[in-house]
Amino acid sequence: MKKYGIAALLVLAMAAISACSDNTAKTPSDTTNAPQQTYKWKLVTSWPKNFPGLGRGPETFAEYVNTMSGGRLQVTVYGAGELVPGFEVFDAVSQGTAQMGHAGAYYWKGKMPAAPIFSAIPFGMNVTEMNAWLHYGGGMELWRELYAPFGVIPFAGGNTGVQMAGWFKNEITSLDDFAGLNMRIPGLGGEVFKAVGGVPVSLTGGEIFVSLQSGAIDATEWVGPYNDLAFGLFRAADYYYHSGWHEPGTALEFIVNQEAYEALPEDLQKIVEVATRAVNQDMLDEYTARNNQAMQKLINEHGVKVRPLPDDVLNALKEPTAEVMAQKSAEDAMFKKVYESYSAFYEGVRNYHKLSEQAYYNNR
Ligand code: CA
Repeated sequence: MKKYGIAALLVLAMAAISACSDNTAKTPSDTTNAPQQTYKWKLVTSWPKNFPGLGRGPETFAEYVNTMSGGRLQVTVYGAGELVPGFEVFDAVSQGTAQMGHAGAYYWKGKMPAAPIFSAIPFGMNVTEMNAWLHYGGGMELWRELYAPFGVIPFAGGNTGVQMAGWFKNEITSLDDFAGLNMRIPGLGGEVFKAVGGVPVSLTGGEIFVSLQSGAIDATEWVGPYNDLAFGLFRAADYYYHSGWHEPGTALEFIVNQEAYEALPEDLQKIVEVATRAVNQDMLDEYTARNNQAMQKLINEHGVKVRPLPDDVLNALKEPTAEVMAQKSAEDAMFKKVYESYSAFYEGVRNYHKLSEQAYYNNR
């Protein structure tokens, strides 16, 4: 009985499908055979071409979009300096030199003081919390509001997870060791580093190794073992400190020129959106899988000395962090608005995570 039932249903379903396609074929507005417009986009990035993790994100995005759109939207990726320098990605997308970019929001702090909040805040949210705030806590709406005057639409574009505190030529035993230290450290972490007497230096990834090796800088942070191994930073400094108080779950960004986005048909817009969402997760998966392998290599093959930042150093950075955030809030209305949203969400999610994630980390 059941068998016949299913067979009958199948026949009905096939009849329905065939009726549907007949109807579709007769619809006057049918455009299935019409030539479809092809869009060619340039995607400029702040990273060396094909760089592990950060640079793979935009490459994966381009692969997804080119395939999912059947070649109707063709995205070509450019490394830092190939079309525009790494720190000019935002301007290039805003001006339409490129339709799309991949970078970190904290690189635009000179243009928009609130931008770094969409990358990372010292002692702030981790990757899970950051993604939750962006996609379900109002963060993305604020990010869009911030970039709107520039004709740029942001999407979350991957996350590194907790970074490392960085590479130092000498041991760090007290906060005094930061005094006068030239360190490559971006974003709000750099502001806090400055507040405790350090000298933050702004460099794109590709400039770091040479600067550290030549002594132009005394220390640097970059990302974590997977990326830091790729740059060979262990050849220029012996001490590798954890954990990344300054970047506890750094979000990357895809940015899209608004006019270019609005010129796309709805299905291609959705493909762009969904591909960014997929890369946002994929990048974290890659870091999670590769960081430990890289760390073992750094320790066992290259003799890197891995050290925790002393508790008193970490604790001494917390008050200056609060002061920097208060000062920025007083100086810039948008910073205040974004930081209030971030802080309210963080307080709630952190309380719950004390009972769940954090409790589990302590128990396992
Ligand atoms: Ca970093």
